[in-house]
Formats: sequence, structure tokens, C-alpha cells
Amino acid sequence: MSNDVSIWLERLASLHKSQMRKAASAADVQLVHLEILHYLSICNKHSNTAKDLSDYLGQTKGSISQSLKFIEQARHIERKPCPNDGRVTRLYLTAKGKACLKDISKDTLPALPQNDLTIETLKALLHGWQTKSDLRGFGQCKSCCYNQSLDNGKFYCGLLDEPLSKSDTQKICKEHMFATDF
Ligand code: SF4
Repeated sequence: MSNDVSIWLERLASLHKSQMRKAASAADVQLVHLEILHYLSICNKHSNTAKDLSDYLGQTKGSISQSLKFIEQARHIERKPCPNDGRVTRLYLTAKGKACLKDISKDTLPALPQNDLTIETLKALLHGWQTKSDLRGFGQCKSCCYNQSLDNGKFYCGLLDEPLSKSDTQKICKEHMFATDF
């Protein structure tokens, strides 16, 4: 049974999807290709494998693999071995992919006014939804319970044991955990 929250969430989600679909269609690319390019532009360096994409977008590995082949042939992405583990292949936007994404995305989401209340409300909705569905991860790094603010104004990840730049803290991470997930 839908309540008011789920109705508004559904409306937001459908509006976003329809705008993305319209932008993808105008650029003559498939929606999933645009979603992949967009995800790779917002995820951190630990969350950019084919499996991460499959988990984030809720698509099968086979379907993601086909899409990756297509956008790799278009030279929008490139694959490179992980600097920390050569068995893992990571995905990166090329300059051409970034330019294409910038061009396609200009009308997908308007610059909405943001304030702390809006952000906290959206985070609470995501947290509640993930908890009820027993799903975790894929949140913005700066809201993660492992993100430590240091006295020198820098940041540190207590889970992965590494320093974080300010821009790292803006990204989506598959390991993200809300404080009350413990
Ligand atoms: S602090 Fe959390 S979200 Fe940020 S990199 Fe570490 S595990 Fe990921």
C-alpha cells in the first residue's frame, strides 16, 4: 500500500528516469549507456568495476557487459587494471566520454536549491529504504560513518585506511555505511 512518502518518491524517480531517457534519446544513445557514463562520473575509485555498475543499476552482469563493450568501442570509457590489485579491472571515463556526458546531461536535472533539511530528508529516506530492503552501500562518502574529519581540515577513511580528499568525500562509494547501520 502506497503512503504519501512513497508516492512522492515514485514521482521523483519517474521524473528523473523520463528526463534521462529523453536526453539519451536526443543524443541517440541508450538510457543504460547514459546511466553508466553518469555513474562513472560520480563514483569513487573503489566503486568502478563492472560488478559495481551491475549492483548500482540493478542490471544483470551480462547486460552490463554488453553495454560496456558498446561504449568502450565508442571510446567513451576505458578499462585499466586496479593499481592495488592487478586481477581487478576498473572502468574510467575518457575525455570523449566526459565531453559526451556533459553535453547529454545539461537538461537531465535542473540546478535545484539545496539546504541541510532537504539533504537530511533525502538521506533519511535512502537510509530507511535500504534498511527495510536489507540493502547497503552506494552513498555519498561525506555521510559515511567511516569518514573521519581530521584537525588539519583533511579527511580519512577508517574502513579502507586511507586519506580522502575533499572531492573524494563528494563521491558515491559502494562501501558507504550510515552511522546507525551498525
Ligand atoms: S569513508 Fe565510507 S564512503 Fe568514504 S571511502 Fe571510506 S568506506 Fe567509502
